[in-house]
Amino acid sequence: MDERLIKRLMMAVRCGVCGERYEGENVRILGRYSDLWFLSVYCPGCHSQGLVAAVLKEGKLPELVTDLAEEEYAKFREIAVVDADDMLDLHNFLKEFDGDFSRIFSK
Ligand SMILES: [Zn+2]
Repeated sequence: MDERLIKRLMMAVRCGVCGERYEGENVRILGRYSDLWFLSVYCPGCHSQGLVAAVLKEGKLPELVTDLAEEEYAKFREIAVVDADDMLDLHNFLKEFDGDFSRIFSK
């Protein structure tokens, strides 16, 4: 699973506020934790910003994302500090999550 695939996946998702489709350049990967990806999306239509967590399994260990710009990677390393509380929140979130991204966006 690479960054391009993630962006393609996100292009199939519409903005929950205005219904505009996200474009690849509007999707920013903040970080990942195993099969879990954190994405920041920016709507070109209504300029709303959203945070997306996506679980993507491929049946093998995910590869390191290497094609981030250097400054993005630096930012990612700062953001990607995840503590036990975060993981617990995430665990609870994923237990309830049914894969319906549009519902998340419309919250
Ligand atoms: Zn929008």
